[in-house]
Amino acid sequence: MGISVILQAKAGSDAGYSDAMYVEKGAKVVPSRKVILRTVNILVSIRSGAADIETTKRALNDLKLGSVIIGLMNPYKPADVFAIMVRKKMTAFALELVPRISRAQDVDVLSSIASVVGYKGVLMAASLSKKMFPMMITAAGTVSPAKVFVIGAGVAGLQAIAMAKRIGASVSAYDIRPEVKEQVESLGARFISFDLEVDQVKGEGGYARKMDEDFYRKQRVQMEHIFSESDVVITTAAVPGKKAPILVSKNLLAALKPGSVVVDLSADSGGNCVDAVLGKTITTKNGVIISAPLNVASDIATHASQMLSKNLCNFITHIIKNKHLSLDMDDEVIQNTLIIHQGAFRRNAIIPKKD
Ligand code: NAD
Repeated sequence: MGISVILQAKAGSDAGYSDAMYVEKGAKVVPSRKVILRTVNILVSIRSGAADIETTKRALNDLKLGSVIIGLMNPYKPADVFAIMVRKKMTAFALELVPRISRAQDVDVLSSIASVVGYKGVLMAASLSKKMFPMMITAAGTVSPAKVFVIGAGVAGLQAIAMAKRIGASVSAYDIRPEVKEQVESLGARFISFDLEVDQVKGEGGYARKMDEDFYRKQRVQMEHIFSESDVVITTAAVPGKKAPILVSKNLLAALKPGSVVVDLSADSGGNCVDAVLGKTITTKNGVIISAPLNVASDIATHASQMLSKNLCNFITHIIKNKHLSLDMDDEVIQNTLIIHQGAFRRNAIIPKKD
């Protein structure tokens, strides 16, 4: 595309990519972050507006007036960082807001992250579990497969179901959106339905909507019998822009057998399990192991980076023509993700606080 690319030295080293590999592909590697920020027209990074606030503020202050920023922004939360972007007449794309349409799949960073998280979550559960996942017929008798229950069958959940099946577990799954039943069953898992009013569950863009506490309470009650027969529970339930719903209550934890494992893959958005300690693995008094890992994709950094870079590269091809920024305002991908254009807010979701 004729764009020159500058990368901070060692930016890829923890993901298995050396500086030399980037140089070989034509990028310039520069040690100083400040020098880079003062040079570039477009900044592409994973958490452009959603890293810790002070780091983000410093980076934004170093960027040139009118810079373009692309990355995850946590656009649902009012934040000081957006006020700086406005003041500096920046243009910002929040990749959380990529629409759930077929055409946008190749720029969907959240789906890439969720795929990696679903896969890794199962491996974490298998290594914490005191049971083997596959059935084994041995001279010492037959070992029955571990029973895995996946809550939330979106991108991460479906990947977790597929992975748990691959390593031989007996898998059941539940999602608030009944239309995923077919997808769950096509992976060879059992879809669990509950007797709940589900007309209103679908929110914007194919995501689930936030429900009231009474609905979540009814869900928890109905899940009790599944918990009593599960060895592993993997939770992935999320609602965009909201704290994850608490679906695994104290009662449900009490229904699990000692030695059972809960891997809470919604930890990044607050967690689905009442007793989860975000970022930690703990064992309850009843001997249930609860793990709530944060930023799981970074554990599989080589492939997570590869997928992210492909998504970002595809995104850039949407917005650059003849080496210059060229925005097709009728394009749904641009319409959804462009939160600030040349210093002006474009989405009501963001209410900037005073800088
Ligand atoms: P997500 O990460 O926001 O949520 C994960 C899952 O949790 C969702 O399936 C949601 O329905 C479920 N959930 C929320 N509250 C729940 C509750 N109380 N109980 C049980 N489950 C609950 O969503 P996601 O995984 O990013 O994707 C959601 C949907 O969008 C999926 O159907 C996915 O296939 C679709 N999608 C489409 C595209 C595309 O067409 N470009 C891309 C990605 C995802």
